[in-house]
Amino acid sequence: MRRTKIVATLGPATDGVESLSEMIRAGVDVVRLNLSHGLWDVHQKRIQMARQAAARVGQEIGVMLDTRGPEVRLGSLARPLRLMPGDRIQIDQESSQNDATLTVSWNGLFDVVKPGEFLWIDDGRIIVEVESVEAYRMTVVARNGGTVQSHKKLSRPKAGWPLDPLTEVDEECLIRGIREEGIDFVALSFVRTVDDMFSVRRFLEQHDLETFLIAKIENRIGMDNLEEILRVSDGVMVARGDLGVELPEEEVPELQKAIIGAANVLGRPVVTATQMLESMVEHDRPTRAEVTDVANAIWDGSDAVMLSAETAVGSYPVETVEMMARIAVRAEQSTIYSHKPEFHRDRIADVVSHAAAQIAEELHARAILTPTESGYTARMVSRSRPTVPILALSTHLKSLRQLTLFWGVLGIRMEPIEETDDMVKEAIATTIRSGYLDQGDLVVVTAGTPYATPGTTNLVRVETIAEPILHGQGVGGQLRAVTGPIVYLPLRNEPPDNFVAVVDGYRREWVPMLENAIAIIATDAGLSSDVAIYATGGHIPAVVGLQGIVRALPEGQYVTVDPVRGLVYRGRVKV
Ligand code: ATP
Ligand code: MG
Ligand code: MG
Repeated sequence: MRRTKIVATLGPATDGVESLSEMIRAGVDVVRLNLSHGLWDVHQKRIQMARQAAARVGQEIGVMLDTRGPEVRLGSLARPLRLMPGDRIQIDQESSQNDATLTVSWNGLFDVVKPGEFLWIDDGRIIVEVESVEAYRMTVVARNGGTVQSHKKLSRPKAGWPLDPLTEVDEECLIRGIREEGIDFVALSFVRTVDDMFSVRRFLEQHDLETFLIAKIENRIGMDNLEEILRVSDGVMVARGDLGVELPEEEVPELQKAIIGAANVLGRPVVTATQMLESMVEHDRPTRAEVTDVANAIWDGSDAVMLSAETAVGSYPVETVEMMARIAVRAEQSTIYSHKPEFHRDRIADVVSHAAAQIAEELHARAILTPTESGYTARMVSRSRPTVPILALSTHLKSLRQLTLFWGVLGIRMEPIEETDDMVKEAIATTIRSGYLDQGDLVVVTAGTPYATPGTTNLVRVETIAEPILHGQGVGGQLRAVTGPIVYLPLRNEPPDNFVAVVDGYRREWVPMLENAIAIIATDAGLSSDVAIYATGGHIPAVVGLQGIVRALPEGQYVTVDPVRGLVYRGRVKV
């Protein structure tokens, strides 16, 4: 199971339930819609298609809306504009009827920008210098060459734009997105301070809306307030495109590590984004540098890695997702990947979740099961980065969808349970029915009791998934359980190595035949029976007093004999 999650941006290149199904099969966990591009109706159709595709594949996906936020964009261009260094162009307001070369989405810009300033187009691919500014019009000179496309971002390095955290369009899309489409995450662009976060929370609460808020850190002021922002957010995104505009490019690798590290410590999921496999927009293979970048982002501690133009407008959206999934799986297998963030464990939930992860690793458990209503317990366990998969069971679709962003967590839908039911048993039964566990698997279950009280994680239970087939009396309580094929006595042929001898009415002349048996199961009853005395003397684990039922087992069947509890299991069982 891949642990790192994949976020993919939707756009014209991903349209169609069929292609979205392929992308989900290839590994997409969360789809992202960028409100900076296109109208709500188009986004809404894409969300509906993605949910349909997920239903077809039989998997939950998360849906993330990425806000416009305080950004300025260029307007539509009839065709891409080729610029040479030194070219002089006009930039007008959006509604301009003039035949200016470029327009902008925000008229306040002309009051803010001063001659001599540099503006960056498309995350700095093209840089222009402001020559003169009038009311609603300015003249700029290209400082390098390149091609300008429609709706590219216009940035003002270091200073940014004095705009509200949400635009009117953002507000409208958030309301409709959450009410009509049950959006799971909202990524807030250009978060600068905790006040930005609070103003968005206030807006949501005023409209009685709930969603996870992911803070996009993409400028210096956001970086300066990182800790405080993280504390009031539900997750964070390393938005490397804009970070490299507002801060020197060469600082980006360090900023990435700093953001991821801080998020890991506070237990917030962190998405590393922008240009991860950029060359796959046009080519069917990535550059080696890009592959290395994805692996390094994972090794840094990302919960998720993100695709932007690669999927939204790329020529190979499915192949890009497949590639990203392959890089992730390989990176996770590497010995370099021993990422265990150190964090303060001062609450019961911290300690118990961490212990569950540790127990699961030491016992080589098949999975950690977390029955959880809100998803809280699964998120807590994810934080410890166990090498064992985390299977989160919830009756809440919303919780399952929000868990799609969390490292190592796989959500499974569970039927509602009664207060009085054994929650652990129900969770195990659901997981077996879903096909994620087999007989003989050892699992660690962690949960909060009373059930459905978010914030409590106070229980760890270790369970073996196995119904014993025979109950008897154990002989050799200090011995370990053993597994082997059963062979009936008296022997007719040469027995296999390490066989489990079935003794139905002990006879002294059988003793030599028991020489290579690793365990004995017998019909004879009592610890003072001859067979029990033989087993005790030879330090052979045994279960006695099984009566006639032993005959039901075919010879050669593997069984596990547990001398401590006096149980016999079918197959290899960890007890
Ligand atoms: P941000 O800073 O918010 O990431 P961006 O312009 O970089 O903004 P991305 O969402 O990262 O946008 O996508 C990368 C590119 O893919 C965009 O610049 C745009 O060209 C294209 N794109 C993304 N979404 C759409 C869409 N819905 N329709 C058309 N093109 C899109
Ligand atoms: Mg943005
Ligand atoms: Mg981008």
